[in-house]
Amino acid sequence: MSTLQLEVVTPDKTVVSSQVEMAICPGVAGEFGVLPNHVSILSALKVGDLRYRADGKDEHVFISGGFADMNNNVLSILAESAEKANDIDEARAQAAKDRAEKRLAEKNDQIDATRANAALQRALVRLQVAKF
Ligand code: ATP
Repeated sequence: MSTLQLEVVTPDKTVVSSQVEMAICPGVAGEFGVLPNHVSILSALKVGDLRYRADGKDEHVFISGGFADMNNNVLSILAESAEKANDIDEARAQAAKDRAEKRLAEKNDQIDATRANAALQRALVRLQVAKF
């Protein structure tokens, strides 16, 4: 079976580096699939679940947005943070969710609602991806 090389990289580490059969990326304009030998693409990503199939098995990775670059059969995902489903600390994500919700509930001009909403979104998606 033909494959493509998937690299998921954050400023700290390489989270995935493997040959995969396909990947589905959370693009800002909607999900898109990438198969082996796909034409070159560059796309911005949103906070979401990056799915891929390796050795016939579906895998899930949380990504906090970033960019996907497909070139010469290598799909590079560059994200500020990323964790494989099994590496997500659910208690930490739950605590982040509670913290963000508490901030958003405060009727206080001092809170940065955009930042709290972004933190809430990351926490919700982490909790979702952790279930896989
Ligand atoms: P928190 O408030 O819990 O730090 P956050 O959304 O602000 O959450 P990020 O800025 O996205 O966190 O990530 C900071 C670092 O912590 C990254 O290396 C990320 O992979 C890791 N990280 C954050 N939350 C979790 C989690 N629930 N499980 C595992 N790693 C996490």
